[in-house]
Amino acid sequence: MGFLSSLFGGGGAAAAPQHSGSGIDTSGVKIHPAVDHGVKPGADTFTGGTISCLCTQNPVEVSISAQTAHNHICGCTKCWKPAGADFSQIAVVGRDHVSVTANAEKLHIVDEAAAIQRHACRDCGAHMYGRIENTAHPFHGLDFVHTELSRDAGWSPAEFAAFVSSAIEGGVSPDRMDGIRARLKELGLEPYDALSPPLMDLLATDAAKKSGVLKA
Ligand SMILES: [Zn+2]
Ligand SMILES: [Zn+2]
Repeated sequence: MGFLSSLFGGGGAAAAPQHSGSGIDTSGVKIHPAVDHGVKPGADTFTGGTISCLCTQNPVEVSISAQTAHNHICGCTKCWKPAGADFSQIAVVGRDHVSVTANAEKLHIVDEAAAIQRHACRDCGAHMYGRIENTAHPFHGLDFVHTELSRDAGWSPAEFAAFVSSAIEGGVSPDRMDGIRARLKELGLEPYDALSPPLMDLLATDAAKKSGVLKA
């Protein structure tokens, strides 16, 4: 599964897909429609596309002029999830590559106080892009996008699962978590209860430099 290591080296910590060997029955465990039938590899030559909200009339369209990175499954309560899904799928791309190309007036910011300002369609609720305006934030410059909202094929595939335990805060029964983690491992999406180790290291390095423990 070379696609795990092909993206910014971010797949270094991801284990090869494995059957859990734990004897846990994962049949019927649903994660997200984009991965439930297996994670589709991205295309090396892919350079972006368009995402559209779910409105059948006058959908919001956002052009993304680059391949995405760090695509992952997320269990947090803030990321937008398609109807019926307990997890979201979310990737990042440089904010300079993101532009609203149709029906921008339908967008509103879900929570102005959140670090990531999620611009969502007022009518259908789909989140079109999340943007960080705080220039001191370690992820400033990256927008968060749901590439499942695109008809274009070739987007970078999900590489891991973040904030898996937080799915309980979203209403998932704790007794389902063993099956969910086993299914994620089967799919090659290593489950973490924070971000992946490379991204957590990046955040910790940023904090250490700000505090002076590490040289900036
Ligand atoms: Zn919409
Ligand atoms: Zn999330």
